[in-house]
Amino acid sequence: MSGLQRQSRFERGEDVVVMKFGGTSVEDAPAIQRLIGIVKSRLGVQPVVVVSALAKVTDQLLEAGNAASKGNLGAALATVRNIYVRHEELADSLLSASAYGSLDRELRGEFQALESVLQGLEISRHFDRKAQDRLLSFGECFSSTLVSWAMNEAELPAAHVDARTCIITDARHGQANPLWDVTNQRLRDRLSPILQSGNVPVLGGFIASTLDGVPSTLGRGGSDFSAAIVAAAIGASRVEIWTDVDGVMTTDPKLCSEARVIRKLSFEEAADLAHFGAKVLHPATVAPAMRENIPVHVLNSRRPEGHGTEITARASMGIGVSAITAKRDVVVLEIQSQRGVDAALLNTVFGVLEQHTCTVDVMGTSVDRISVLVASNLALPKIVDDLRRVADVSWENHKALVCLVGENIRRQPEVASRVFATISDMDVRVLCQGASERTLSFLVDESKADESVRRLHSAFFPRMEPSRDWGGISSAFCQAG
Ligand code: ADP
Ligand code: ASP
Ligand code: MG
Repeated sequence: MSGLQRQSRFERGEDVVVMKFGGTSVEDAPAIQRLIGIVKSRLGVQPVVVVSALAKVTDQLLEAGNAASKGNLGAALATVRNIYVRHEELADSLLSASAYGSLDRELRGEFQALESVLQGLEISRHFDRKAQDRLLSFGECFSSTLVSWAMNEAELPAAHVDARTCIITDARHGQANPLWDVTNQRLRDRLSPILQSGNVPVLGGFIASTLDGVPSTLGRGGSDFSAAIVAAAIGASRVEIWTDVDGVMTTDPKLCSEARVIRKLSFEEAADLAHFGAKVLHPATVAPAMRENIPVHVLNSRRPEGHGTEITARASMGIGVSAITAKRDVVVLEIQSQRGVDAALLNTVFGVLEQHTCTVDVMGTSVDRISVLVASNLALPKIVDDLRRVADVSWENHKALVCLVGENIRRQPEVASRVFATISDMDVRVLCQGASERTLSFLVDESKADESVRRLHSAFFPRMEPSRDWGGISSAFCQAG
């Protein structure tokens, strides 16, 4: 055998594709079997698999943590018991008896550790973000372990990798930021030998740990971000986000049945859409892919033959609006200072927000007033108290930020005028021209968000003949070129 033949495909520099499967794409045995089929279809390249917790598990863990920390350990343990049974049943239907026995031993140990964490919460009554991260990380540990066993059973050689040992973050629990150098190094060190031996690494998304080894998470929906982090570290040629819809669509299809797939988006448009509430992508996902120029494809795991959405550096050729989104549960903070708005005031405002790990969505200033839009959070009363030391502060919650995204829409006055005409009878509080040229957003009462989005969608995306392709939602739609 020649030296070249002995080299694995990874060593020969062949393409690596990072494939992330969300909660619904691993929710039950048929979903995991579909996952296995999709990964097998990518064996011409080198796949790396990133999985979310099974659908609903993260919410259930959160519920269990809240119950335990309020003294209701019985309810917490019952919730966890249901999660355990669900994983066991899945293992039973996917694995042979002997593999099932081994996985069962592994899972039992993990679930005992999870129960101890809940017992600790009952005693401490303290369920802060650090404790939350510790608890939530079990969901992705279980799913990634289960999926790697199921892959091996299906003769798809897989190696489980604990993402907490290689994605390393700061201690901003609940929304941690990767420490890039150490993360890149650890991912390369850990994944290269697996890829070199021709196996498929399987990691849990969303979870990471601090340098001290304390579990951290990347924020809700963070498995998309994990996939991009892994792809950037190992120089993958493509990221695939496998989910439950046909791609990134003109709006949330759950809200508007006429939403259509967007075939191509620029990195910037995708980042804006994610930032302004399109749940299909975690907002931080695009940055690492963009930095390394790695295309991201959003695909439907229930319909793998579809084209999905391709997100690349290429600016889309389209003009006008690519998509409409809404970010709910937004709070407006109005900060007024008789001394006027100066750098010192801005510094204080940002300092207070940072101290409470509160990220600003949109900000506007005038001579004596700063308007800040933030996601609703438990620290708000404290934030307001702190800001009142330097200025008058009022705040309003239950708002939604509706946002239109598209290349250069800011340079097209007809877009803004059509928006006004479409929602002229609604109480639109603020119209924020995005700092980027790609967004136009406004604030409404949360109760009006769905209607605003639907009306705008009808105005900007008039009904089309159903495509013969995918019965209803058009795969042929290509707003952006
Ligand atoms: P996963 O569990 O696969 O990560 P998510 O629930 O996080 O999936 O994201 C997929 C969901 O995002 C879809 O079911 C859809 O309801 C929602 N969504 C919101 N906005 C959009 C959009 N513009 N395009 C596609 N899906 C969207
Ligand atoms: N399981 C996590 C969540 O529900 C992460 C993810 O699904 O991406 O938020
Ligand atoms: Mg998601």
